[in-house]
Amino acid sequence: MLKLKPKEWAKQVVKQDEIDKYLINGKDFIDEETIFDKLDKNQNPDREEIRAILQKSLAIKRLDPDETAALLNVKDEELWEEMYETALEVKKKVYDNRIVFFAPLYCSNLCVNNCVYCGFRKDNSQERRRILTMDEVKEETRHVVGEGHKRMIVVYGEHPLSDVDYMAETIKTVYSVKEKSKYGDGIGNIRRVNVNAAPMSTADLRKLWEAGIGTFQVFQETYNHKLYNELHPSGPKADYRWRLYALHRAMDAGIDDVAIGALFGLYDWRFEVMGLLYHTIDLETQFGIGPHTISFPRLNPAGGSEVSRNSKYLVNDQDFKKLVTVLRLSVPYTGLIITAREKPDIKREVIKVGCTQTDASTRIDIGGYTEASKSQDENKQQFLLGETRRLDEVIRKLAEMDMITSFCTAGYRCGRTGDKIMGLLENCVEGKFCKLNAVLTYREYLDDYASEETRRVGERLIQKEIEEIKNMPFYKEHKLTQKFVDYYERVANGKRDLYL
Ligand code: SAM
Ligand code: SF4
Repeated sequence: MLKLKPKEWAKQVVKQDEIDKYLINGKDFIDEETIFDKLDKNQNPDREEIRAILQKSLAIKRLDPDETAALLNVKDEELWEEMYETALEVKKKVYDNRIVFFAPLYCSNLCVNNCVYCGFRKDNSQERRRILTMDEVKEETRHVVGEGHKRMIVVYGEHPLSDVDYMAETIKTVYSVKEKSKYGDGIGNIRRVNVNAAPMSTADLRKLWEAGIGTFQVFQETYNHKLYNELHPSGPKADYRWRLYALHRAMDAGIDDVAIGALFGLYDWRFEVMGLLYHTIDLETQFGIGPHTISFPRLNPAGGSEVSRNSKYLVNDQDFKKLVTVLRLSVPYTGLIITAREKPDIKREVIKVGCTQTDASTRIDIGGYTEASKSQDENKQQFLLGETRRLDEVIRKLAEMDMITSFCTAGYRCGRTGDKIMGLLENCVEGKFCKLNAVLTYREYLDDYASEETRRVGERLIQKEIEEIKNMPFYKEHKLTQKFVDYYERVANGKRDLYL
């Protein structure tokens, strides 16, 4: 089929009626004045008020905007220490001590937009443009699978050559790759493909759903209307509301695992946390389901982008830890993603306040896994990474912190998505299944991919986990203990991809 030229194509992307249907009395759900009022009104919260809010988080109830604004206004560092501890407790209650791993696959850096902070923006003439062929997608996937990954997030610029049909083809290609494991006789493959792409129409989102995606992820970048317009001068991304309702359309298309995020460093971090909360509330109100995950990427240096280096709102490490803590406490049921944009030290700090997912062995230049160049090149990638450590090393470091890596992809394959998973998370049941599946997939990893050093540390952790499982009344009551022991033995004997 003849493709439209990029300029013509870009003009027909936004469908106004697919924005208007979600507005309430002609308004969207971000009202700057209300947000500033709430931040102002909840200055100087007292200790008892904050402690009562922490109890609500511990009961796994989503906080209201006034409560979140109060947390954001805490000045007392001792109280912050209590908040960090509670955040971790909340995470453990819902998700136990596990971290889920994924790898991004950047398929194309062609883009019709001009986001001033991004190396892929149309007017960045230094960027070397490239779109992967299906053979290249296969090759990249083989490398990612060879590291031991089971989850991938595919990422694209917005362009007619990387439209939804190209995306669907790349997703099917990723799923088709089967690769013998590094050790033993395991066969590795990607079991869940998530997508980070520009907002699209409901009809296009249905195509993605049919291609078998897990989560659809779109970051609002900034929730401030005026600033958003300045940072996105042209292309479909210039339309704030088209982006704001991208995930509402995904829900309508049947994708009920949706992921929100804001790019921290563009504007005041307290405001953006409030924006993420209002986004969560609107999804809950209109669909009965909040976001599957929330992301909080921080602005990293990008090729030729002044803003990415000098924005006056860049967030320091201390405030970063605070904002992740408030998100953990405000939306206790959601997954929180920390990416390789961050350096190992700060990554470890925020994992301790409740993150649930991260990436490793990450490459974000197009074709980067296959080429495996030693250094990063800002003219080939969207921005520079803070961490490029291999998965094996990151897994070992987490095991030393008593955290188990999970490659579990059971949730969406046995219907635990959308409102079903929300109920299970709020009642702290999903985490119990996750614990079992984490151990099964950890066994696979240790046998198929782990270095000797990692296996040694991992073996200790897995035995501790098995003991805990055997002693937990929940599993006995639900007759899961024996089934788990049986599955574990089968996996240890070479069977793959068993889940509960
Ligand atoms: N092009 C699509 C879009 O903009 O929605 C999808 C992918 S874009 C490659 C993924 C995300 O990277 C963006 O939503 C943005 O939040 C983030 N990003 C862009 N420039 C960045 C930078 N300089 N540092 C960190 N993250 C950045
Ligand atoms: Fe394109 Fe996305 Fe980068 Fe904006 S953030 S220039 S839309 S790739």
